Amino acid sequence: MNAPVRHRLLQLGPLPPDLQRRAAEQYVLEPLWTQPAPADFLAAQHGAFDGAIMMSRHGCQAPVIACLGAAPRPGVVACFGVGYDGIDLAAARRHGVQVSTTPDVLTDCVADTALGLMLACARQLVAADRHVQSGAWLQGPFPLATRVSGKRVGIVGLGRIGQAIARRAQGFDMPVRYHARSARPGVAYPFVARLGELADWADFLVLACPGGPQTRHLVSAAVLEALGPDGYLINIARGSVVDEDALVAAIRAGRIAGAGLDVYADEPRVPAGLLGNDRVVTLPHVAASTRETRRAMEQLVLDNLAAFFATGKVLTPPC
Ligand code: NAP
Repeated sequence: MNAPVRHRLLQLGPLPPDLQRRAAEQYVLEPLWTQPAPADFLAAQHGAFDGAIMMSRHGCQAPVIACLGAAPRPGVVACFGVGYDGIDLAAARRHGVQVSTTPDVLTDCVADTALGLMLACARQLVAADRHVQSGAWLQGPFPLATRVSGKRVGIVGLGRIGQAIARRAQGFDMPVRYHARSARPGVAYPFVARLGELADWADFLVLACPGGPQTRHLVSAAVLEALGPDGYLINIARGSVVDEDALVAAIRAGRIAGAGLDVYADEPRVPAGLLGNDRVVTLPHVAASTRETRRAMEQLVLDNLAAFFATGKVLTPPC
């Protein structure tokens, strides 16, 4: 009996160790990012791959997609992560290449992190911890912080994660309103068409929309001005959504109360103006990084690949 065909996958960057191991058991993986001349490699291997495997942060541009599209059966891009802002979806459509992401399985952990950042910022949990750890408590009490329960939450992007944040906020008796490109049918939270108006209303402006050109610098100096000196910005979406220069200026001048950030425009580099300031809580893009969620994301990447090779269709395309 013939051995089953092992499909060839382009690997666009380093993968989590378990996913790397499991994918390598099932597929022939060819690393692209370690090639001395990736463009020449793609040209020489045009049409020779059945798919690509990647993480959101690796990005997948038109040359990779053209290479996959040139195969006898246009291939698949299986992405670990729900953010597809780095994937050229228009090129994928043009070349008949399918794309999958890992929605839903990470929603709870990302929403949990948003609430964690709200509490960390307003209640000054990180600075309060340092107060104890450094022995400063022996010299005097920690300053008063800001209440979270009952405050107003404005969510930008009421998709899977935005709705999970809204449900959690309701547990804290927080009124919720949201902004998106259009009102979501069947949703009870009030829709606010103008982002500036939502920022003006909110105590916490929480970003849960996609990154990419359409949302670049959606949170501008004017939006931060509207959020105001008692308002907090929480970003678990993408760094590109915020004008970081404007954010640094707003924090420095006290035009907003503080910020809780998981994502940045140029990771892992974080603007100096966001460091060393108790009013800013910075996480290293870990909103989905729990063992349980990572495992579920890995499984979904493999399930998408298996479904594509068995049926010609991925299970969870981006939109
Ligand atoms: P989703 O279900 O697709 O929801 C995205 C929401 O954003 C939609 O409701 C959409 O509503 C809204 N939106 C799209 N374009 C917009 C715009 N220009 N202005 C305002 N709202 C806009 O996606 P999800 O699963 O909730 O994930 C949301 C994002 O979270 C991802 O794209 C990713 O970037 C980020 N994320 C971050 C982490 C992390 O580790 N920090 C982990 C997972 C996801 P309309 O279509 O009506 O505008």
